[in-house]
Amino acid sequence: MRDIFTWLCGKNIIPCAVFRDGIEYQVNALFKNFLATTNSAVQKKMKSLIKKSQSQLTTPLSQSFKYDVWQALAAISIKQDDSIYTMLLLEPNSSLVEHITTFLRVVSSSPVMIINKKAEILYCNKPEFGKLERTHPQQWERIKKIVQKNFTKRITFQEDLLIYDRLYHITAIHEYDDFLIIFKDITTQKLAEERYQQLRIFGLRFSLLERIMDALTEERTDLRRIGKIIYEETRKVVPIDTFYFALIDDDFIVIEYGINQGTEITGLKIKRGHVGLSNYVIDKGEFTYIPNTKTARLDPYKPMAITKGETRYIWSYVGIPLKIGAKIVGAASFQKRAANAFTQSHLAFFELIGKEISVAIRMRALFDELEAQRLRYKEIAMKDPLTGCYTRYYFAEYFDRFQGIIERKGGEICFVMVDVDNFKSINDRFGHIVGDTVIKEIGNLLMKNVRKMDLVVRYGGDEFLLMFPYVTFRRAESIMQRISKKVSELNIPECDEKITLSYGISVYDGSKSLEEILKIADEHMYKGKKEARV
Ligand code: GH3
Ligand code: MG
Repeated sequence: MRDIFTWLCGKNIIPCAVFRDGIEYQVNALFKNFLATTNSAVQKKMKSLIKKSQSQLTTPLSQSFKYDVWQALAAISIKQDDSIYTMLLLEPNSSLVEHITTFLRVVSSSPVMIINKKAEILYCNKPEFGKLERTHPQQWERIKKIVQKNFTKRITFQEDLLIYDRLYHITAIHEYDDFLIIFKDITTQKLAEERYQQLRIFGLRFSLLERIMDALTEERTDLRRIGKIIYEETRKVVPIDTFYFALIDDDFIVIEYGINQGTEITGLKIKRGHVGLSNYVIDKGEFTYIPNTKTARLDPYKPMAITKGETRYIWSYVGIPLKIGAKIVGAASFQKRAANAFTQSHLAFFELIGKEISVAIRMRALFDELEAQRLRYKEIAMKDPLTGCYTRYYFAEYFDRFQGIIERKGGEICFVMVDVDNFKSINDRFGHIVGDTVIKEIGNLLMKNVRKMDLVVRYGGDEFLLMFPYVTFRRAESIMQRISKKVSELNIPECDEKITLSYGISVYDGSKSLEEILKIADEHMYKGKKEARV
């Protein structure tokens, strides 16, 4: 393998000579003429220029001197393998000097390789890089491909190659007839970037968890809102195109919240089976990272295009099974339309988010159950089990609604306190079971004979309270007469005693408290009872 100076001198494009530690090392034909005709004074000046240059590595120096015609030399020195090499250029122009200086500077700091069209290595400053064909055949193939593809272009390639456990950014430059390949070590830079990402992700985890916790502790866990929060926050640090989480619903996986390249896909259904990677994740039951879905072997599962008509499948896919306890209830997914898009810290972050979604789903299931229970108990507490009439508890709630309206807009509510006459004797004569039937029949009759907005409350043993919003005293009176008549006509087979009611009416218009109004109704009812007995 030749060295870099032999390569440069051998090009014979510019007159140049190389000195190693001040001693002549390589001289090209163009420079030889100059050397042959110099006198001792010029040679002396040349030596001093070389010395000066040796003390100022990679800084170009130039010197002009008169000999026959005006002549100028430039000198550039670099250190390599414990020797100082000095390159002399005759009649240099400034851009050429700059170019060669940069070139030598790179050579002294980075692995550099010069290869020809046939992919033969002409020069390499690091012996181990000269063996890439054997030690890193895959990387070597990439380099060859880059060179072939960019025969005449000066291009910096985005491709990063891992060589000898370090990450290099490759630049291939068409230099004279050959290719100069520069390997820029970006390991530390990448590491720093990754560290920075980790820090950002760490910070994000906290702000995200906080927002999710807030959303979770709201009365009703809104999974869509939580999905939106996750998408927004994740996008701040991780480049994702698609995010969704979906729950199993019989034969389908239904997307509870999803967004694909800015378009919401909430509600989308994926059939259980082998199409769609959510099925794969759910069946496998494990955190799944696929760096490139196009090359991954997932048989018999096939990736599914989320957006209709979309045929490009190359993407980085992360799927996380969602679990409640040990049971898999769905899957969440983060995707990017590029291969190898996610780093280890991204993956750790996604896994954590998967757990958060599981918690949110469990919370919602719990809230749903609690809500159902609350409604069930409310139903129980609302109605009296014997008659099906409303309870005092429900009455208080119902009255509240009207009270506010009446206070603001006026109007009145008629209350009627009703008590069965001599009910004790019915119990005594026919037994409690028949007594129950009588109470039940009276309750039914009352409910049947009032409007929808009226309320029939079982107030006590044989006592009922009727509430008639926006009904006058007189109107209530006539309703009660009609009802009393119907009660007296009740035909209960086991009970041959005529049933009668006593009642008292009072009107609520907001000027007295409810207690006072009910007391008045009660008093009227007892008064009526007494008068009836006399
Ligand atoms: P009055 O004409 O003064 O109302 O006399 P009354 O016999 O109806 O006396 P009161 O209203 O004070 O008594 C009601 C009775 O109803 C007392 C209680 O034993 C009976 N009772 C209360 N709840 C029930 C029930 O759910 N089923 C039955 N069978 N009896 C009940
Ligand atoms: Mg009674």
